[in-house]
Amino acid sequence: MAHAMKRILVKLSGEALIAPDGYWLNPQTLTQLASDLGQAVAQGFEIAVVIGGGNVIRGAKVGAAGWIDRATADSMGMLATIMNSIALESALEDRGISARTLSAVAMPSVCETYARQPALHHLRKGRVVVLGGGTGNPFFTTDTAAVLRAIELKCDAVLKATQVDGVYSADPKRDPSATRFDVLSHDEAIQRDLKVMDTAAFALARENRLPIIVGSAHGEGAITAILTGRAKATRVTP
Ligand code: UDP
Repeated sequence: MAHAMKRILVKLSGEALIAPDGYWLNPQTLTQLASDLGQAVAQGFEIAVVIGGGNVIRGAKVGAAGWIDRATADSMGMLATIMNSIALESALEDRGISARTLSAVAMPSVCETYARQPALHHLRKGRVVVLGGGTGNPFFTTDTAAVLRAIELKCDAVLKATQVDGVYSADPKRDPSATRFDVLSHDEAIQRDLKVMDTAAFALARENRLPIIVGSAHGEGAITAILTGRAKATRVTP
């Protein structure tokens, strides 16, 4: 099937992996995400994934608490993203969906080290490329890693999978009068102070005219439904 957008970088938050009993990893969620990403590949999309580490640790928060240096806490955060990445890779492979984790932090006995050419090669082969370790640098987030890799790998868009079905004028969980946007420009998002992503990530997306799609990852096939236009989402386009 031909799609206007073909190569997509899917950004998943680590927090979405937390189980109902509070354990940091929910196998059901992993299985559902793996099957959803497999459907997207079957529909003809090339899929790269950046997964956060917020289910385990957020460097900024731990650093601010003062008992550990921020850069060290960020290293721990990057390692957390690698745990999530190999867990997702394993869930994909278990379902017969070919996947490779490429890490920005070299860890050769665990997964491949990220480099652009091998990543492109895997994508062209139809493998889901799971990008672990964020940018490999402290003081960044996995949102920035997602935008950076999407630009490097010439992705048509970043799909930021969240808890809600798009970008709202205010937090829809707290403010019942919040309205949802169908389409937005990067400039509008900045002017209206809509927090689509953190500032560094969003600035990089804007500068490189990278479209960002924001939608809900909840429910079976949610990601594929957004990509094929069957589920609503907000499109941030230049
Ligand atoms: N991190 C980092 N550099 C990066 C990406 C992530 O140091 O390029 C660290 C940072 O401490 C961050 C943590 O990894 O808090 C987990 O990533 P993030 O907070 O983006 O995860 P998410 O909120 O998406 O689950």
